[in-house]
Amino acid sequence: MPTKYIIVTGGVLSGLGKGIAAASIGHLLSSRLKIIPIKCDGYLNVDPGTMNPIEHGEVFVLDDGAEVDMDFGHYERFLGVTCKSKWNLTMGKVFDMVRRKERRGDYLGKTVQYIPHVTDVIKAHIFEVAKEENADLVLVEIGGTVGDIENELFLEAMRQMKEDVGRENIIYIHLTYVPVPYGVNEQKSKPTQQSVNLLKQRGIFPDIIIGRCSQFLTQEIRRKISNFCDVQPEAVITGLDVDDIYEIPMIFEQERLPEIIHKKLNIYSPPDLRKWKELVDNIRNPSREITVAVCGKYTKLEDSYASIVESFHHCAAHLGCKINLEWVETTDLKDTRFLDHVNGVIVPGGFGSRGIEGKIEVIRHARERNIPFLGLCLGLQLAVIEFARNACHLERANSTEIDPETPHPVIDILPEQKEISDKGGTMRLGAYPAFLKEGTLVRSLYGTEKASERHRHRYEVNPRYHEIIQEHGMVFSGVSGDGRLVEFIELPRLRYFVATQAHPELKSRMEKPAPLFYGFVKACLS
Ligand code: GLN
Repeated sequence: MPTKYIIVTGGVLSGLGKGIAAASIGHLLSSRLKIIPIKCDGYLNVDPGTMNPIEHGEVFVLDDGAEVDMDFGHYERFLGVTCKSKWNLTMGKVFDMVRRKERRGDYLGKTVQYIPHVTDVIKAHIFEVAKEENADLVLVEIGGTVGDIENELFLEAMRQMKEDVGRENIIYIHLTYVPVPYGVNEQKSKPTQQSVNLLKQRGIFPDIIIGRCSQFLTQEIRRKISNFCDVQPEAVITGLDVDDIYEIPMIFEQERLPEIIHKKLNIYSPPDLRKWKELVDNIRNPSREITVAVCGKYTKLEDSYASIVESFHHCAAHLGCKINLEWVETTDLKDTRFLDHVNGVIVPGGFGSRGIEGKIEVIRHARERNIPFLGLCLGLQLAVIEFARNACHLERANSTEIDPETPHPVIDILPEQKEISDKGGTMRLGAYPAFLKEGTLVRSLYGTEKASERHRHRYEVNPRYHEIIQEHGMVFSGVSGDGRLVEFIELPRLRYFVATQAHPELKSRMEKPAPLFYGFVKACLS
């Protein structure tokens, strides 16, 4: 069978959940097909690693160390695949490739142009991934909204692709918005028509239209969209607003989306949503409830901590509980009274010195009052700083990231990071194994000797302080192969005081919640 392609574009406005729609489509088709997701982003950054999470949402990290768009989190969670760097194509990367080709002389004698040279690079990249991965189906999501300057070249490449792969091997799915204006109380098709027109002007004629709406689309509006946009009525699908994104595959199945795709692409891969549905039902019918404080500095935009939210969701599905997240901004933390009503505290990753002392104060209270605590990356570093100051009596202990003059740099930059001045892609990135100490809580939670989690940091627990910290009772429950890098810590005797230098939230899945989150939620429940 030739590789099949599904191209997902979006219209009307951003934030309609194109990534989740694409991931859900993939989930529905994944039972018998090897699906490779590719995301094309129009920005000129090579990757989102250098962008502020408040602007762009969470930076997702892959096993291979790539810093990618947070949609890759959805792909991995919905498709059960381990994505690769190459599957994220930004315009920054594309221009970089074109420029290198030009310097090498690949275009000798020619004027290098957007069409065909840039579009060729885009297509060649996609075909290369398809071939390397031996993909049955490639799911290409074009970031942004049709009409944006940024994604014009990607759209043009997608238009051309139908000639390269054959009309029968590619379909275009367009996600739009169907508003029900207040007072009018009627589903409106105009934004969809206009957005499809923009797409058609670019030579792309959608095969399927997904209308994001607060209600199921009526027969009438389906007919109307079908008529104006030249799609079959059954190919107009509701993208229903839901509280829980994991319900989307079920909605699409109900809307018979898989059958339409099967027919159009001549493939067959029946969805099996039984287990998935069971887990989603558990979330809908919780028997217990807890509140967890997330103490960070990007708390205004929950997307900055998307994978943490997802990880809790996975725990909720398995433990049948409702988990309320309380976002605590530590930048100008006045007091720690919020700790009186929460069941646990989590300090996530972060950079820079803003809000640090507030977090350290929160950790001290959690430790002293035996409130379950989970620290992630920066969270581990701050737990070590707090312990060094208040249990080991190392005055003004700190990380050199925060206080370069500290007399006790318990957290310091890695020697191999010292010479680096570039900021993009220069951290310790990607999956590294840690060896877990027998008899520790972390070891029992993973149930294995070795744990592989993803990293994104520059600083580490300073080996000079390993001894004194352990002497005072902090257990290094997981370390790197050579023992120099502290990957997991815990304080025994407390209900749950665990932290890791890694980001286990990045590998949590609906079917298998991240062990440290699972243990944390269980402790919060008890
Ligand atoms: N800023 C810290 C470091 O670079 C922590 C990074 C993080 O939390 N991801 O080491």
